[in-house]
Amino acid sequence: MSILQNHDTEVYQVIMHEEQRLHDNIELIASENYPSRAVLEALGSVLNNKYAEGYPHKRYYGGCEVMDEVEEMTIARAKKLFGADHANVQPHAGAQANMAALFALLKPGDRVMAMSLAQGGHLTHGSPVNFSGQQYDFVPYSVSRDTERLDYDEIERIAKDSKPKLIIAGATAYSRIIDFERFQKIAESVEATLMADIAHLAGIIAAGLHPSPVPHAAVVTSTSHKTLRGPRSGFILCKSNWASAVDKAVFPGIQGGPLMHSIAAKAVAFGEAMRPEFVDYQRRVLENAKTLAESLQKLGLRILSGGTDNHMFMVDLSSTGITGKAAEEALDCVGITTNKNAIPFDPQPPTITSGIRLGTPAVTTRGFGPDEMKLAASFIIRTLSNFGNENVYNEVKQEVYHMTSRFPVPGIDRYNNL
Ligand SMILES: *Cc1c(COP(=O)(O)O)cnc(C)c1O
Repeated sequence: MSILQNHDTEVYQVIMHEEQRLHDNIELIASENYPSRAVLEALGSVLNNKYAEGYPHKRYYGGCEVMDEVEEMTIARAKKLFGADHANVQPHAGAQANMAALFALLKPGDRVMAMSLAQGGHLTHGSPVNFSGQQYDFVPYSVSRDTERLDYDEIERIAKDSKPKLIIAGATAYSRIIDFERFQKIAESVEATLMADIAHLAGIIAAGLHPSPVPHAAVVTSTSHKTLRGPRSGFILCKSNWASAVDKAVFPGIQGGPLMHSIAAKAVAFGEAMRPEFVDYQRRVLENAKTLAESLQKLGLRILSGGTDNHMFMVDLSSTGITGKAAEEALDCVGITTNKNAIPFDPQPPTITSGIRLGTPAVTTRGFGPDEMKLAASFIIRTLSNFGNENVYNEVKQEVYHMTSRFPVPGIDRYNNL
C-alpha cells in the first residue's frame, strides 16, 4: 500500500479506514469473509490489464497466451474441487452467474419455481424488481409456517400444479440442509430442469460438509466470496450437455471481457479450498454457528427453525419489540456488524424487517472459537436488552474492541505480518 499512500493520499486514507473498521469490529454478516493475502495479491495483479473476450484458444484479442493458461487452470480447479463436468469461471459475480444460467436454460416468459425473496431466496430468483422477475414467470415456494424448514411435499405439490420448466434450489437466508437430491426427484417428476444456487454454501460443499447438488442439478451457480473465501466473483458448473449453452450465455450473451485478475484469484481460492486446512476451517465455521445460535437461544432470543445446520441463522426479534433495522443499527454502535433480514411471513416491510441474519465464516477465518462465540452472544444480548442506552453501548464497544484486538485480520498487512 505504500505506493498508493504517496500517489493518492485520499484513496489511501479511505482504505486505511476500512482496514481499521475490519480490525475493530466483529463481522457477523453471513455472506462476508476475509480472503487471504494471496487472493488479494492475484486480484491486484497486472492480469487486470488484459482484454480476453472469448474462451481459451478462441479469443477475440491477440496476446492471450497467458490468459489461456490462467483460465484453463481455474476451470480445471473448479471442476476438480466440485467434481463437475464443466465450469465457466467468467461470471463477474453471483447475480451474473444466475443471469447467464437463466439465459441458457430458458426463453423469456418461461415458468420457474424458486424460493421467494421474502422467505430466504435471492433477488435473482424472481423478485419483481430484478430482471429475473421481469423476464420469467416465477412461481414461489416457501418454508413451512410450523417448522420454518423447506417442505418438500408442498414443493412437489406446487410443481405438479404449476408445471415449471425450471426449478431453482438454493437460498440466501436458510439455515438448514437443502436436499438437492429430493429437488431433482421433484423436477424429474414434472419434467423440469433443476438449477442449484450454492452462492452461500459453496465452501461447505467443497469441504464435503453439506450434500453437493453437482450430481443432481443440470446447472449449479455460485459466488466465490462467501463461504468459499475467494475474490468477489461468480462461477457456473454444469453437466456436459449444458456446457455450450452456458458458455454462450456468459459470453457473448451477457458479459464482455472477463476479469482475468479475478479469475486468477478464483484459482487461488479453489487451490486453498483443496487443502485439508480448509475442511478443518469449514468444520469450525459450522461449530461456531451452532455455538452462537445456542448461546443466543439460552439467553432468550428465538432462532428461526430452532437452530442451524450451516454457517448462518436468523434471529426472530418480534418478541423483543426491536425491529431488524433498529437491531442492526444498535449492534453497529457497539462494533458488531450484522444485517437486518426479513423472516418468513414477516409483518414488517423489507426495509425494516423483524429479524437479523448472523453468520460465522468471517469470524472463523479470523480465528474465533466457541469461547469468542459465547462472548459475542453476550454482547448482542446486552446491547439489545439495553436498547438505546449509550452508556451500555460504550461499555460493550470497549469489550468488543478488547476481544477483536487479540485477533489479526487475514489479508491486512499492518495487523498481520504474513
Ligand atoms: C449472494 C447471492 C447471490 C448473488 O451474488 P452477488 O455476488 O452479490 O451478485 C446469488 N444467489 C444467492 C443465493 C446469494 O446468496
